[in-house]
Amino acid sequence: MQYPINEVFETIQGEGSHTGVPAIFVRLQGCPVGCSWCDTKQTWEQEEHNKVAPEEVIQVDGTIGRWAMHTAESLMLAFEDKGFSAKLVVITGGEPCIHDLTALTQGLHAKGYQAQIETSGTFEVKCDEQTYVTVSPKINMKGGYKVLEQALNRANEIKHPIAKQGHIDELDELLEGIDVSNKTICLQPISQKPRATELAMATCIARNWRLSIQTHKYLDID
Ligand code: SF4
Repeated sequence: MQYPINEVFETIQGEGSHTGVPAIFVRLQGCPVGCSWCDTKQTWEQEEHNKVAPEEVIQVDGTIGRWAMHTAESLMLAFEDKGFSAKLVVITGGEPCIHDLTALTQGLHAKGYQAQIETSGTFEVKCDEQTYVTVSPKINMKGGYKVLEQALNRANEIKHPIAKQGHIDELDELLEGIDVSNKTICLQPISQKPRATELAMATCIARNWRLSIQTHKYLDID
């Protein structure tokens, strides 16, 4: 199985439960969700004229919409060629779950990597059972996709960006009827402004949830 890859790079996971863990990020091309504030709009379309050779998307600037096809095996060979040492592989996008990620995640786990998927929750999550799934629910976005119960039920972690009480209310509504007893719920202040951070902190303390800080923004890294 081949996947359209926009970029691959090694860094530190800056968000959620794996904050601080060295990670290889694999960004897949393609996303129809349509978040207005999306900072990876270059991944939305998989245009044929932007298709390049597989080696061109490994550790290059992914801010443009070019992409190349890779299998799990060719990706792992590229990790070795580049001398990447991280064992956590974060599969992101775009929206990675528009693809069936079973072959990719099984291949990674078979070679000793831990796969993590970061998804909007608007497509069915298809992956290996050992994969750590983070759903950052994108609610009422322009593309018109609903957050799926399947994705919420499969999630190990639900990470929600917040700026105001309304964002917590919408999360409560979304999680109604979902068993969250075995899930980590993270609130992530949308900005570095004190108001958002204070609200996130107070809610996390009251509900025994986890605070997720976008550490990469404070560190000024990818
Ligand atoms: Fe951008 Fe992610 Fe929203 Fe897609 S789901 S539009 S990649 S933020």
